[in-house]
Order: sequence, then C-alpha cells, then structure tokens
Amino acid sequence: MIVTRFAPSPTGRLHVGNVRTALLNWLLARKQGGRFLLRLDDTDTARSTEAFAQSIRDDLGWLGMAPDAEEKQSARMARYAEVLGQLAAAGHAYRAYETPDELDLKRKVLLGRGLPPVYDRAALQLTDADHARYEAEGRKPHWRFKLDPALPHEWTDLIRGPSRIDVPSLSDPVIRRADGSWLYMLPSVIDDVDMGVTHVVRGEDHVTNTGIQLQMFAALAALGIGPSDQLRFRGQTGTGAQFPQFGHAALLTGADGALSKRLGSIGVSEFRDRGIEPIAMKALLARLGTSQSVEPVTSDAPLIEGFEIGNLGRATARFDEADLERLNGQILHHLDHAAVAGRTSLSEAEWNAVRGNIASVAEAEQWKAVIHGPIAAPAQTDEDRAYLAAAAETLAGLPFDAGIWAALTDALKASTGRKGKALFAPLRLALTGQSNGPDMGALLPLIGRDEALARLRS
Ligand code: GLU
Repeated sequence: MIVTRFAPSPTGRLHVGNVRTALLNWLLARKQGGRFLLRLDDTDTARSTEAFAQSIRDDLGWLGMAPDAEEKQSARMARYAEVLGQLAAAGHAYRAYETPDELDLKRKVLLGRGLPPVYDRAALQLTDADHARYEAEGRKPHWRFKLDPALPHEWTDLIRGPSRIDVPSLSDPVIRRADGSWLYMLPSVIDDVDMGVTHVVRGEDHVTNTGIQLQMFAALAALGIGPSDQLRFRGQTGTGAQFPQFGHAALLTGADGALSKRLGSIGVSEFRDRGIEPIAMKALLARLGTSQSVEPVTSDAPLIEGFEIGNLGRATARFDEADLERLNGQILHHLDHAAVAGRTSLSEAEWNAVRGNIASVAEAEQWKAVIHGPIAAPAQTDEDRAYLAAAAETLAGLPFDAGIWAALTDALKASTGRKGKALFAPLRLALTGQSNGPDMGALLPLIGRDEALARLRS
C-alpha cells in the first residue's frame, strides 16, 4: 500500500506552493488507493502554533483533501531521542561543542583558502575526558549526523530521474541543538520509517536533503530500526529496498516567471475569500508543470485518474492568478447546483440560468436580485421606449412558457422589422437593468410574466 505524507510546519498558513505539494501527495495516494498523512512538523515550538495547525486542517478540508491520519512531531520527541541514542552508539551520530562564532570562523578560514566550507569534524577527535571536561564546564553538546560516502547517496527521482549528492562536499548536518531541540532532518526520516511512508514528494529545494536523508534511512535500516515488515510489504528488493521513493517537483514561479514573494505570502483562505472554487485550485495545480493540459473539471475523479507523477517536468512551473480566475469561471459554467448547495440561495433553475455569467458563486446572488427585483429602470431613448411599450403588449398576448423569449423576439422582429442589437438590447436592458448577462431565454421565464410586463412598461 502506498503511503504519502504532507509535512508542513504549522508556522504559517498554507500558500500555493504548499497546496501543490499536498495535492501531488494526495493524488498519488488516491490514485493507488493508498493513505495520505498530514504530518505537522512542529519541532520549532517557538514558531509553531495550534492556530496555524488548525488553519492547515481547515484549508485541506476546504480543498477536499482531508488527510487519512494526522501525526505531530512534538508528540514524538522521546522516539527521536531513542533513535539518536542508537545512531550514536553505532557511530552514525556524534557530539560537538563549537559555538556559532567558532563555526563561522572555521568557514571563513576555509573560504579564505579557496576551500569548500565543510565542517572539519574536529569533534570526532574528542576523548571521553574532553567530553567530561566540557560537561563539567556546563557546556552542552549539539549532535551531528556523520555522513559517509559508503552509505547510499544516489536515487532515481520520480520526477528528476537519476540523482545524487556529492557527500564529501557537505558538512555533517546538525540534527539536534544544544538546547535539545530538533532540526528537521532526522525526525523526518524517523517518521517516514515509523509511519511506513512509501513516497516522499516535495519541492526541489529538498533535493540535497534527500541525499542526506538517504544516508539516515540507510543507517536506521542497518540498525534494524523501523517496521521491517512494512519494508517487505512494499515488495522492494535490492539496494535501497528500505527507502521511500522520492520525487522533487520544480518550484512554482509567479506570472512574471520569477520566484515570487507574493506566491509565498498569498494564503489559501485568500483564494477562498475571492470566490475561487477548491476544484479550480486542484485542477490548475494538478497540471501545472506537466505536459497535460489544464481542464475545467468539476470533480476530483479525472484529476486522480489522469495523474502521473512522471508527467511533471523539471522546468519551473508558472502560476498565474489570472489563469486560476479564468479556470474558475469555466468550471462554474458547468458546475451542478448540488456542488454549490448550501453556498447559494439560488434554486437549481436560477443557478443553471446564471452560472455561465459569474466569476464566483457569490456573484450568482447579484443575478438572483436581478431576477426577483426590484431593479432600477434604466434610461432608454424615446424610440426604444415606444418599442418597449409595444413589446409589453406583445408579451401580454403570448403564452408565458419556457419558450417565451424566442416567441417574443420572433414576434417583435416581424412586427417592428428590428433585428440584431436593436431588437435585443433594449429588451435586455429593460428586463434586467443590465446591458450584458445570462441568456435571456433562461432568465425571462424566471423573472415571470407580471414582473416582466412591469419592467417593460416602466
Ligand atoms: N516541514 C518540511 C517542509 O515544509 C517538510 C519537508 C518534507 O516533506 O520532508 O519543508
């Protein structure tokens, strides 16, 4: 069974890039009948809040991507400490005491010599006596993971293809700070192992992390850490059997093609407030950066069926809010009343009549007001006033049924010789108070005979 996860830090609201990452994981799980987890990366206790966690749940719920289960890293600290102990005992993790200033100085010296600023592993030389002395001085160690070129560092990315990191060019990552707090890297790996995550799909800003995390997965596997049954269960063999598969999606750019600040700051709730339908966000983000075209779908099914992670390209994908608005309108045009029930006061017939002319569900209410009136009588020329008086008399003599608009305009065409704009525009303006709008054939029966007569006569 496929298990994917979306792992935001509850330190802010979801933005478009987050939604895309969540969506890709959700689509992958849904397509294969798997599980989609929400993992809250809340190890940064100072910046993580329950309010942000709740806004993430709300946004996923609104998007129709509620997770199958939720995990919180803050609840798993003891587990991380336990695993770190095992890694340390096996020589995969070690204590270090350098202060940020000392580390900075080391980096500067290396850079000054034209060398890559890689941590020199001085802490590996510390003896038990050194550690005892530091401890007696009240100095607390931070922990680093020991990278090893002999451990796996290559993978076949689901999106980028053959990928690797150059281990010697990287510093051993700090995994736990001196104050006991955790950095992102190791807890994520422990979670992925413990939670049986089979596929990790995230942004390409995590590519180097993946190489480092592969080393951690390998170290854990060598120690027999993790639900090994589930590894067999995945039916994978050979090198890397115990690792999830990784896919790194190219980042999104703004409409101008640049990595935009706005994209990172505009929250899901703003799109919701602007009347964007959740299905529109999904329909656009599911296809952005793929060779597949964006389609105005009204349900998840075609997105799930059409989803192939390998269809994502390596080039950055352009997210244009204007595209989203256009797509939203197209989707609304054939969205069933059932899909908006509870969010609109329009009857099904009213909804069907106006949905082709709205940019948001809320906008439909304006047309409802037009249908039911009162509307302000618009200014018309004297000539048109005479025409409208004649139209009222004609209308009064016709059976008021579903075909009334065609019957009325056919009769007026014959009796007045008017055609085209001269025939239709004064009628639309008198009947709706607007010069543009939904098909009059659908609107007029909803306006009703008496109201239509009154509007033509006024
Ligand atoms: N909390 C990390 C982030 O939002 C998770 C990355 C991951 O998917 O492992 O970048």
